[in-house]
Amino acid sequence: MDFRPEVFTPSYWMDVPAIEGQMTRPRDGGGILVIGSGLSGVSSAYWLKEVGFEDVTMVDFALPHAATFRNCGHILYGTVESMQALVALHGRETAREIWEFSIGICHEVRETVRRLRLDADYEQSGYLVIAIDETEDKEIHESIELLRGMGFQSDYVEPGKLRQLGFKNVRGARYEAGSAQAHPMKFRNGVLKHCVDHGVDYHSGVRVTSVEEEGDHVLVNTEQWGQLRYDAVVIAANAYSPLLSRYFEERRLVEPFRGQIITSKPLKHEFKVKHPHSFDHGYEYALVTTDNRLMIGGWRNNTPGGEVGTYDIDPNKFVEQGLKDFVEEHYEIKEKIEWEYSWAGIMATSKTGFPFIGPTTSPRIFTCSGYTGHGFSWAHGSAKLLADVMAGNQVPAVAKYFNPKL
Ligand SMILES: Cc1cc2nc3c(=O)[nH]c(=O)nc-3n(C[C@H](O)[C@H](O)[C@H](O)COP(=O)(O)OP(=O)(O)OC[C@H]3O[C@@H](n4cnc5c(N)ncnc54)[C@H](O)[C@@H]3O)c2cc1C
Repeated sequence: MDFRPEVFTPSYWMDVPAIEGQMTRPRDGGGILVIGSGLSGVSSAYWLKEVGFEDVTMVDFALPHAATFRNCGHILYGTVESMQALVALHGRETAREIWEFSIGICHEVRETVRRLRLDADYEQSGYLVIAIDETEDKEIHESIELLRGMGFQSDYVEPGKLRQLGFKNVRGARYEAGSAQAHPMKFRNGVLKHCVDHGVDYHSGVRVTSVEEEGDHVLVNTEQWGQLRYDAVVIAANAYSPLLSRYFEERRLVEPFRGQIITSKPLKHEFKVKHPHSFDHGYEYALVTTDNRLMIGGWRNNTPGGEVGTYDIDPNKFVEQGLKDFVEEHYEIKEKIEWEYSWAGIMATSKTGFPFIGPTTSPRIFTCSGYTGHGFSWAHGSAKLLADVMAGNQVPAVAKYFNPKL
């Protein structure tokens, strides 16, 4: 096991400290326990309170490892697959339903920012999916055609325009107006603060080692506080879920994989591109921060094994260099870039390609996890869907794709 809770390199976002919970024994004996306080955990607690559950407790362990603080801040329509790939994998109607749902959950993030008046650097300026070779360019054209055919906005951006925006050695791009970006730490802290202010009991440093239903309650074993009891549990630990749940481990619902990001010092020249963007089928993804830094991640597809199956968040030097070389090759930046941050984080691929949202085979143990790199919007939206499932509210038909009972 290469999970070393005490070892981590901080990310750019962690310049804003994470709000942590009390280091005391969580209250138990009933109510709902949410395991995890990343985007999924805080969103679950938030939506559970919103639908009327009063007694909600939330715990976390090794908080600085959470992918929530280690991502690229993109809030994207769709899933990790292009529309062309989604249709090939799941058929046109399923792809359309999933895409439509993904738009709704991106807007849900925006609405939460507005409703809670969060200072989270939220900006809805669209997204560029940039092709770096002919095959990808062809796929982009096909995706645009499919998206438009389904009634979604999607526009082609010519290579000349991309050069004006400061890129080089690129073919063309798909532009989507509705995607957005935000500061993930500020968003998570803001939602969390609201939860705590509204009675969520929040504790840090609680390592859950197992979760099992017994009769009319759930037994949660912890390293620090022994056995705790709840009426229901939400596993919101994403890639870490198999380390605390036999259900996840046995079914291999999710596999951990390491993503990596580097971030420059603020650049003197203002970037022309303001949209979050990605290249090479999403294998590289980038953002210009509010203080004019280039943040770029990815490149794991060039490593043997693709960084899959690890919990080690030590940055891989080979990937770091690959990202720097990628910037040299694809950005026209007329000044020397100094790289200030380099970090890694663990996300989760899902067995089905879709998140798992709902009850496991135990009607008291629920989950919302497995976003394969699109967790900002999906975590927040999945948690809303989960809260509706738990409250017995009506849920959209699309929920059938997210069933964790495999
Ligand atoms: C490099 C990188 C780039 C990414 N870029 C993007 C992006 O631009 N846009 C996007 O949408 N998504 C992106 N993602 C994915 C996104 O960050 C994740 O999908 C999302 O943060 C998952 O949130 P989460 O709360 O489910 O999991 P995490 O944020 O990983 O949180 C897991 C929680 O579980 C807790 N926990 C773990 N083990 C235990 C235990 N034993 N007991 C108690 N608690 C435990 C942890 O303390 C933590 O609170 C990226 C991820 C990485 C790593």
